[in-house]
Amino acid sequence: MHLARFPRRFIAHLPTPLERLDRLSAELGGPEIWIKRDDCTGLSTGGNKTRKLEFLMAEAELQGADTVITQGATQSNHARQTAAFAAKLGMKCHILLEDRTGSKDANYNHNGNVLLDHLHGATTEKRPAGGDMNAEMEKVAEEMREDGRNVYAIPGGGSNPTGALGYVNCAFELLAQLNDSATKIDHIVHATGSAGTQAGLIVGLKAMNAQIPLLGIGVRAPKETQEANVFKLASATAEKLGCPGVVSREDVVANTDYVGEGYGIPTESGLEAIAMFAELESILLDPVYSAKGAAGFIDLIRKGHFKKGERVVFLHTGGSAALFGYTAAFDFADRWTGQEKPQAA
Ligand SMILES: *Cc1c(COP(=O)(O)O)cnc(C)c1O
Repeated sequence: MHLARFPRRFIAHLPTPLERLDRLSAELGGPEIWIKRDDCTGLSTGGNKTRKLEFLMAEAELQGADTVITQGATQSNHARQTAAFAAKLGMKCHILLEDRTGSKDANYNHNGNVLLDHLHGATTEKRPAGGDMNAEMEKVAEEMREDGRNVYAIPGGGSNPTGALGYVNCAFELLAQLNDSATKIDHIVHATGSAGTQAGLIVGLKAMNAQIPLLGIGVRAPKETQEANVFKLASATAEKLGCPGVVSREDVVANTDYVGEGYGIPTESGLEAIAMFAELESILLDPVYSAKGAAGFIDLIRKGHFKKGERVVFLHTGGSAALFGYTAAFDFADRWTGQEKPQAA
């Protein structure tokens, strides 16, 4: 498997660090916890979409695109990284933002990732929740093409076989770090959403016969749907790489017990995970993805699913910019000042 056969536009700060989390490990008293810092990919506060976009934006360039279009939820990290990448390449970027939470909060609608989208020069328009966002995006792309623009459309989360190559590459990178430091690990855990991260990782791990189980903690769909989505994309990615069938259905494992009320709605356990990572390890999680992934990870450690003597890697997929869109979530109880939540007048 030779990834250099595919066009790639280098922008990420790679390899991302692999670090041991001693204080969090001690606090939980379970396995030795390590973290792969894909929150540090560098592009406009970093995150996992940058690896996917290296392959997607290279295709856009080859096609001679002057415009990229993509879609995501209001506080989409993918949208922000796409806007930043497009700016660097001198392309226009247009984003369809889906209102998946219905929140009228000013920070949610204008701060965090939305602020950064606009700082990078992207234009945005809104859509109500529940529509077919990729179809909506294609409609807008078609109108732009009729106006004479050369448009490259990127699906939500950058999750197609081209984008997933970025996470095949991450599997190689992580394995090399582990091998070079003689660090044997027993498990990899991360937040899974639009499926590209998990699909790419599992293809890379299986193609190398790493024999390291991978667990995705879901942030939106039920288990069956999530696993089916990941498996479908992993199969297509393996096909693209010339190793069809390298991933079997049972290699794809998602735990969707930590979604809470729904996508983009913070959970108590996620907020606890944010506080633990920030206070013990000075690492910022986001309430939509990495905090729910970490909440599942922490709960599974507490339940003994990952044990003392094992070594587990949490892949940090980024998202801290969303914290500034979710300030309202942190009003719940003031563990930091000891004060009660201010009562509404
Ligand atoms: C998009 C995203 C994920 C999920 O990755 P997918 O490839 O969409 O499954 C996880 N964490 C963060 C911070 C993200 O932005």
